[in-house]
Amino acid sequence: MGFCFSKFKRTRDIPISSSSPSDSPSPPYNPPPPLHHALPPPGQTTAAPRPPSPPNIGPVLRKPCIDITTLYDLDKELGRGQFGITYLCTEKATGLKYACKSISRRKLVTEKDIEDVRREIMILQHLTGQPNIVEFKGAYEDKKNLYLVMELCSGGELFDRITARGSYSEKEAARLGRQIVNVVHVCHFMGVMHRDLKPENFLMVNRDEDSPLKATDFGLSVFIESGKVYRDVVGSAYYVAPEVLGRKYGKEIDVWSAGVILYILLSGFPPFWAETEKGIYEEILKGHVDLQTSPWPSISAGAKDLITKMLTMDPRKRITAAEALEHPWLKKDGEASDRPIDSAVLIRMKQFRAMNKLKKLALKVIAENLSEEEIKGLRQMFNNMDTDGSGTITYEELRTGLSKLGSKLSEAEIKQLMEAADVDKNGTIDYIEFITATMHRHRLEKEENLYKAFQYFDKDNSGYITRDELRHAMQQYGMGDEATIDEVLDDVDTDKDGRINYEEFAAMMKKGTVDFSEQLRTDE
Ligand code: ADP
Ligand code: MG
Repeated sequence: MGFCFSKFKRTRDIPISSSSPSDSPSPPYNPPPPLHHALPPPGQTTAAPRPPSPPNIGPVLRKPCIDITTLYDLDKELGRGQFGITYLCTEKATGLKYACKSISRRKLVTEKDIEDVRREIMILQHLTGQPNIVEFKGAYEDKKNLYLVMELCSGGELFDRITARGSYSEKEAARLGRQIVNVVHVCHFMGVMHRDLKPENFLMVNRDEDSPLKATDFGLSVFIESGKVYRDVVGSAYYVAPEVLGRKYGKEIDVWSAGVILYILLSGFPPFWAETEKGIYEEILKGHVDLQTSPWPSISAGAKDLITKMLTMDPRKRITAAEALEHPWLKKDGEASDRPIDSAVLIRMKQFRAMNKLKKLALKVIAENLSEEEIKGLRQMFNNMDTDGSGTITYEELRTGLSKLGSKLSEAEIKQLMEAADVDKNGTIDYIEFITATMHRHRLEKEENLYKAFQYFDKDNSGYITRDELRHAMQQYGMGDEATIDEVLDDVDTDKDGRINYEEFAAMMKKGTVDFSEQLRTDE
C-alpha cells in the first residue's frame, strides 16, 4: 500500500507557497504547504501603503478603538493560524465564554491585508446564525490588535479527531459529511465561496462523540460575483481542486474540497497524495481516485458514488452541494438534523417586520444608497431565491429559498414576512425591498447613512421631520393615514413636540439593533 496515514499532515503553520506547482523537490515527509493567500498579479509586488486615519478611529474597522479588556477577560490560547492567535475569553457582563481571534495590526501591512480582514468580518456577519457556521459576536480594535469574538467551539478540530481515529464508520462519516456539505450549500446559497475547506477549519462544538461541526475560518472566502472567473491560487494542497491549479474556477471548487474531506473520513488517507507539493498537484491533475484498494472494497456503493460525483474533474459535471445533500447516501438514516436555527437573514426579516413604518421607509432609503460592495452577498442570495430570474421574489420562491437555508416556517409566518418585506404591497418582493429587509443592521451604526435618511424626510431642511413631511413621505407608499402617523409619532417623538428631530430619529433607527448572537439566544 503506497499510502501511509502518518504522512498525512496538517496544512497550516507552514510558510506561504511561492507559486503554484513548485519545481523544487521537497524533502520526504515534508507536509505540503498551504497555497494560502492570493498571489499578486505579475509585476505588482508591493502594494500601496495604507493611508493615515484620524486618531482613535481604528484604521481597520473604521470605528472607535476600544479597550477589549473592559468587555472581556482574555484567557488561555486555543489555537493559532496564519494571522492570529485565538484565545478563550469571558464576557464580563454575562460570564459567557467565547473564542477571541486576535490579529496583530502590525501584520496588516498593506491596504490589501486590511481589505482581506474586513472581508472576513463581513462574511462572518453575513453567514452567522446558519447551522454549521460559527456564530459571530463582534469585532473590536485597539492600538495593537484586531479582535474577532465568536462562539466558542470547545471540542477541538475535526483534523485531530480524524488523526486520532484513522477513519469513521460510514454512519459517522455520513453524519459529518452532511454537515460539511451543508456548509458548502449555505455558503453558496448565500453568495459566498469558501476556498479553504479542510479538516483544520472545522471545529467540534463540544467534546461529545456526536458534537455538531462548525466552519470557523473564512479568511480566504470571497463574495461570489456572477459571471466572474476566479484566478487566485488559494487553499491547501491536498484539498485544492484541479481547476484552481488551472487558475480559472468558480464555486464548484468547494464541492471538490468537501469530497476530499469525505474521502479522508472514510478511508483515513487523502485521495491525492505524494511526498512533495508538486507530486500532490500531479496526482490531482491526473484525477484518478482510488476506490478499489483497501479499505474501499468494504465501503458501500453509495458512498463511492457520491465521492466519484464530488471528485469529478470537470467542474460543470461535478455534483452541486444542493444535489449532494439529496444524495441517498448522505441522506441515509437522515436522523433529525441539528436543531434548526433561524438564519441571520430570517432574523433580520423578522426584526424588519416588527419595525414601525417610518423605520422601514428609512431603511429603504439607506438600502437604495448602499454600494454594490456593501450588499454583495445579498445580491447573490436574491438571485438564488429568484429562481425564474424575473427580478422579483414570489411567495413560493421565498418559501423554497428559506427552506433551502434550513428554516422551518409555517405558511402563516412566511405570509407575514412576505407582507412585511413587500413595502409597496404589490404582492412580490423586488430587489430593493429584499435588500431593505435583509441588510445587515450594522449599516445603521454609520452616522452618514442615518443622516442621509433623515434628510430624505426633512424636505425643507429645518432639522425636524414635521407631521406634514411624514405624511407626505408615507403617502407615497399608501400608508399616510392619520392613524399610522400618530402611531409613528407616538413611538419616535419622545419629547412630544409633534415633530421628529435628528436625535429622536437616530435613536429610533438604532433601537433594537441587537447583536446576532444575543438575538439567537433570546430567540431560543
Ligand atoms: P487562521 O485564519 O489564522 O487559520 P483560524 O480562524 O483557523 O485562524 O483559527 C486558528 C485556530 O484557532 C483554529 O484552527 C482553532 O484551533 C482555534 N479556533 C479558532 N476559532 C475557534 C473557536 N471559535 N473556538 C475554539 N477554537 C477556535
Ligand atoms: Mg485556519
